[in-house]
Amino acid sequence: MMNIQNLIGGQHHDASAGHTFEKRAPSTGDCIATVPASTAEDVDRAVRAAHGALQTAEWSRAGAAARARWLHRLADLIERDRDALVELLALEQGRPLGEMRMMDIPMSVDTLRYFAGWADKLEGRTIPTDGFMGRPTLNYTRREPVGVAGLIIPWNAPLMIAVWKLAPALAAGCTVVIKPSEDTPLAVSRLGELVGEAGIPAGVVNIVHGMGAEVGAALVAHPLVRKISFTGSTEVGRAIAGEAARTFKRVTLELGGKAAQIVFADADIERAIPSLIAGMFANQGQTCAAGSRILAHRSIAQALEKRLAAAAREIRVGSPSEPGVQMGALINSRHLARVRAHIEGALAEGAVLLAGNENVPPGGNFMRPTMLGGVHPAMRIARDEVFGPVGMVIPFDTEEEAVGIANDTPFGLSASIWTQNICTAHSVAERLEVGAVAINSWSPIDARLPWGGTKHSGIGRDLSKAALDSYLEEKIITAAL
Ligand code: NAD
Repeated sequence: MMNIQNLIGGQHHDASAGHTFEKRAPSTGDCIATVPASTAEDVDRAVRAAHGALQTAEWSRAGAAARARWLHRLADLIERDRDALVELLALEQGRPLGEMRMMDIPMSVDTLRYFAGWADKLEGRTIPTDGFMGRPTLNYTRREPVGVAGLIIPWNAPLMIAVWKLAPALAAGCTVVIKPSEDTPLAVSRLGELVGEAGIPAGVVNIVHGMGAEVGAALVAHPLVRKISFTGSTEVGRAIAGEAARTFKRVTLELGGKAAQIVFADADIERAIPSLIAGMFANQGQTCAAGSRILAHRSIAQALEKRLAAAAREIRVGSPSEPGVQMGALINSRHLARVRAHIEGALAEGAVLLAGNENVPPGGNFMRPTMLGGVHPAMRIARDEVFGPVGMVIPFDTEEEAVGIANDTPFGLSASIWTQNICTAHSVAERLEVGAVAINSWSPIDARLPWGGTKHSGIGRDLSKAALDSYLEEKIITAAL
């Protein structure tokens, strides 16, 4: 049993009120850690530590190249500890080890190195004007860190998403308070230890554990926090946007999705199937980019549905550490019940179960990958974000209809298109109201590519130079000559 603590000003602390909560393993239900149930007082201490660190010579005068070196060192340490981190993530998330080895760890390392590369390239501009009040002027800009950033992290890829936010924030010269999800406190806590080992000055990175309504909300309301970067549900994102507006905080909101994977009649089906399956079921379907809506041309829809249902039945579900397991457990029993309720609702609305519900392993929050037939675009299962391993095939007749169904959702995060016709591919890509379109693939994410949504999927972008810019202010300095 692990005893997790907050990290404030370089020191490990229990919650100031002394309260804790239990973290249970999704695949067994066993209690694996006690975690501080922090309060607004702990958040205040952490924000003050971060604010203090902003002004210390150790951080603010360290220089851009030093920040780059710290980020590279942190990347080295994640690489060194990759096996232990993968095991920690599997334990707290219930997710198979292979996915984290392939995605979360390499991407965390790559993201740190990518933003390390930016740290010493935060160049300003000189801007010619006609001068002011008859005098010529020299006008130049400086890129300055926004200040203390609050980073609020979800449970579905806790280490990777924490790094997506931490790396650009530190490259920009900000200091941070991280609020990990109450469902996944372990790997982010370990990241905090590696931050110390990397030599990043005390107080630059602080971590406060606890509930969203208490710790997350206190961070969003705190007057010394200048920016909030949040990844999580659309509902909480909406509340954060409202509260952050009171103190004019900068916000990046990475919210929910309801991605369509559009399969045209000429698609390379053999290549598409494994990718469509990954889009629906990777991470137990608990990804923001989950491509749960397969929109298939009517001429191929029935055959494709059969193949996908058969492939779903083949997926091996079980404990993350069991060799050969492809799908693990859902994050907690409440979420499992919510996903099941979505399926029950769909069946009540007339959908039919093509795969799922059979041979569910005992013990943890397991469910089988589920394929539903007979789904109509107006049904709730085709509109709401389920955030679980549930997919469906919806037939379409024309390109227009496919684009219409894909866009007919409040979400706008991502989509895929499967076709061999480049004109169809690029013309459909242009008309999809989303932040990311994948052609003949599912959602390739890369540190160099901006990631984020339109509509109710959020505001702003993680990753790429766009993320870096969101942690910087551009200040104009005008000298009258
Ligand atoms: P969630 O919104 O329940 O929680 C996310 C984080 O916000 C947690 O740390 C939580 O404690 C905190 N929080 C909760 N209430 C809060 C409040 N009132 N004020 C401040 N913070 C609060 O989301 P989740 O269940 O952890 O994650 C799943 C959601 O995240 C899904 O909707 C998914 O689509 C989305 N997501 C989006 C992206 C993206 O890049 N767009 C990536 C991953 C996940």
